Amino acid sequence: MTPRPDRISGYFSPSLETLSREERVAYQKAELQKIVQHAYENAPAIREKFDKSQVKPDDIKSVNDLERLPVTHKHELAQLQEQDPPFGGFLGVPWDRLKRICMSPGPIYEPEEIHSQNDRWTQAFFATGFRRGDIGQVTFSYHLVPPAFWFEDALHRLECIATPGGVGNTELQVRMMHDLKVTGYIGTPSFLVKISKKAREVGYDLQQDLHLEVGFVAGEMLPESLRDEFEQGFQMIVRQGYGTADVGCLGYECFQKNGMHFPYNCIVEIVDPETGKQLGPGETGEIVATVFDKVYPMIRFGTGDLSYYTDEPCPCGRTTQRLVKILGRLDQVTKVKGMFIHPGNADEVAAKIPEIERYQVVVTREAHVDQMTFTVELKEGYHPTEELTSRIEAAIPVSMRVRGNVKFIERGTLPKDYKKIDDRRKWD
Ligand SMILES: [Zn+2]
Repeated sequence: MTPRPDRISGYFSPSLETLSREERVAYQKAELQKIVQHAYENAPAIREKFDKSQVKPDDIKSVNDLERLPVTHKHELAQLQEQDPPFGGFLGVPWDRLKRICMSPGPIYEPEEIHSQNDRWTQAFFATGFRRGDIGQVTFSYHLVPPAFWFEDALHRLECIATPGGVGNTELQVRMMHDLKVTGYIGTPSFLVKISKKAREVGYDLQQDLHLEVGFVAGEMLPESLRDEFEQGFQMIVRQGYGTADVGCLGYECFQKNGMHFPYNCIVEIVDPETGKQLGPGETGEIVATVFDKVYPMIRFGTGDLSYYTDEPCPCGRTTQRLVKILGRLDQVTKVKGMFIHPGNADEVAAKIPEIERYQVVVTREAHVDQMTFTVELKEGYHPTEELTSRIEAAIPVSMRVRGNVKFIERGTLPKDYKKIDDRRKWD
């Protein structure tokens, strides 16, 4: 697929997306100090969070200092809002500065400012390949929740036209895409599957009768095989982004599709879910965000999602770090030899070894030391060899940061409802 060259070149905010590491540290320091001061003075919930931890705004001078504050989770936010409705003490500006209030499941109320400076989704759309003049169909819900409005806003900031498809009405949406020669898709991967099915059903050729060139997907995992299907089927670029209703955009893919760049104007930490301490590149932990948003200033908001990041340079020229992959939810995590592992990490190992049919990671403890065993069922026609064992053993620490043994079992040994990570440790 060869997209129009202008869809991959150029930067939305060249001065900020391509800062050197030292420049970025300085920029984030200054923004962090400003938002901390503002939030402490204007949002009672933030003031209480600081006071309880005996931290003063002046104590937060750098991203590392954030470790002194606890992480606030969604359920705590919902509780605080119930106790002190509607915003739980998180509103950081007077009511007459608001333009919209959304309600996300919880329920959690999210205020939005009239003239918001928040352009994080715009960075995501630009990196995806949206350019001036595109017509983007927004197929997220326009009821109660914020994403559809955010994405319209991102389109408008890039001087694109929005067509508000909303949820469902697949046939009408296909018609709209055809009649208006819509060039951009914004929605979940699964709804794009529905669109392609419906389009074929009504007799459209995906490339001749529809004009999609660029797609931004979010809200669900995007398997590479599905991305390939879209890119080849529609001849379009498909990139994904990551964020939550509470804090907005926290990551987006560029043309290189090698992870999701952090937006330059927020702070994303990967932290140890038990201690709240910051983890380094490659280490699995919870995604925790601090946003420079005066209206709804979230300082150390815990998303409950697990990931790990890389600070390897990206050929696109953006110098921000990247979330490599969203692994799943916090409650699926297991700690082995001091490292958090998730079924998503184990899937990565299996994906590198084509001979593996099914696997289970068994965690045990011998003489007070954790042991991890990758139990493997091979595909029909394959047999255990030393070469295969060492290939799997080599792949394990790359994706899981912990060494493990390999054990082959007969095909069909694992029960139907087996768990990918089986923690058999006894703690008594
Ligand atoms: Zn990049």
